[in-house]
Amino acid sequence: FGGIVKEPPMHIVHIAVEMAPIAKVGGLGDVVTSLSRAVQDLKHNVDIILPKYDCLKLSHVKDLQYRRSYSWGGTEIKVWHGKVEGLPVYFLEPQNGFFWKGCIYGCRNDAERFGFFCHAALEYLQQDGFHPDIIHCHDWSSAPVALLFKDHYMHYGLSKARVVFTIHNLEFGAHFIEKAMAYSDKATTVSHTYSKEVAGNPAVAPHLHKFHGILNGIDPDIWDPFNDKIIPVSYTSENVIEGKRAAKEALQRRLGLKVFDHPLVGIITRLTHQKGIHLIKHAIWQALERNGQVVLLGSAPDPRIQNDFVNLANQLHSSHGDRARLCLTYDEPLSHLIYAGADFILVPSIFEPCGLTQLVAMRYGSIPVVRKTGGLYDTVFDVDHDKERAQAQGLEPNGFSFEGADSGGVDYALNRAISAWYDGRDWFNSLCKRVMEQDWSWNRPALDYLELYHAARK
Ligand code: ADP
Repeated sequence: FGGIVKEPPMHIVHIAVEMAPIAKVGGLGDVVTSLSRAVQDLKHNVDIILPKYDCLKLSHVKDLQYRRSYSWGGTEIKVWHGKVEGLPVYFLEPQNGFFWKGCIYGCRNDAERFGFFCHAALEYLQQDGFHPDIIHCHDWSSAPVALLFKDHYMHYGLSKARVVFTIHNLEFGAHFIEKAMAYSDKATTVSHTYSKEVAGNPAVAPHLHKFHGILNGIDPDIWDPFNDKIIPVSYTSENVIEGKRAAKEALQRRLGLKVFDHPLVGIITRLTHQKGIHLIKHAIWQALERNGQVVLLGSAPDPRIQNDFVNLANQLHSSHGDRARLCLTYDEPLSHLIYAGADFILVPSIFEPCGLTQLVAMRYGSIPVVRKTGGLYDTVFDVDHDKERAQAQGLEPNGFSFEGADSGGVDYALNRAISAWYDGRDWFNSLCKRVMEQDWSWNRPALDYLELYHAARK
């Protein structure tokens, strides 16, 4: 890999509809920011093009300036420029109001809105004389970039660019994804195991020759228990026990839970079928049964599911008010306190392309308890069953996992995890220290992306 870093810098432009922390719904937003930062740190030039939503968290945008406007698609499009987490971002604000909806997704014409954005983004690159080496687009929402580029813009000024397309989740917009798979120069998805799981999908199957699984990383500066304003005591693996004890107490106080040292299970998730809702519910009761505490932070895009959890919250808060708290909202700062204060982070997904929560959990010394699927399989190695598989990656086991999708499976992993906490605190503490010392940053995957970008240009 050393050679790659010394080659002349490349110019990479991401065209994306999410970006943490200003416009984040899920992992896609985290990846756009953290991959870009990692590639920029390796001395390449990275720009991001994003819709200028009215709901952007502008407090995280530095030096926001109006740049110019252009006409396209029957409307005027204003272009703004600012810095987010040290990355240059171009914001496109069409005056037809497509992004003045108070939300990122959830409009009836999302496909039209994002299709428009993709087109407008390429138009902007061409009109402003950009000559990127790589245009990187993501999921169904910026998939149209690949086709539009090959059909049109490649022949007009943007000729030297190559298109890389990343599937973060194949569940949505398979039709758009199919096109982008066909028209991109290289395609990736976010873990090796997920790439195998989706290899038979008709959107993917014809394109395996250019399709690669590259694991997501997390940004170690954005997720850093030594430098996190939300948590009470800064910690590294050296003082993880002290740091986590203080965070647990702060979490308990903040949520009105009983302050005591019992095993605390945290769950931080979108509440959708993908995330294993029935397993989440079962695990809450099981953790309480084992005298633990449970904190769930999650919100459901589907109002029926949200309602269902509101009812569960009412029931739990009256029967186990001192030990269970369901926070049915999106709350980034609270997520930090949960990652730090929990002993375990549970991720029982039915499928999971990569999963970031288990990686953030480990960064904060929390032990992942996961279902063996997709990226969860690639990053969590069961202390009882995966020693050899971990060692093949140069790692020690780091968590608890289960197969199957029934309550027996999740019980099997959760019971072993909680028993380990009760029966061997020294061993458990050393496990917390160990997971913190594992490297789930972009150090390695960013080099894999650079190699892929280079291969796309050959
Ligand atoms: P997905 O992209 O499928 O939602 P990932 O595990 O890849 O799942 O990414 C989820 C990201 O969103 C993580 O950074 C997690 O901390 C965050 N997250 C999920 N739900 C919430 C919530 N309710 N409040 C705050 N952060 C959340």
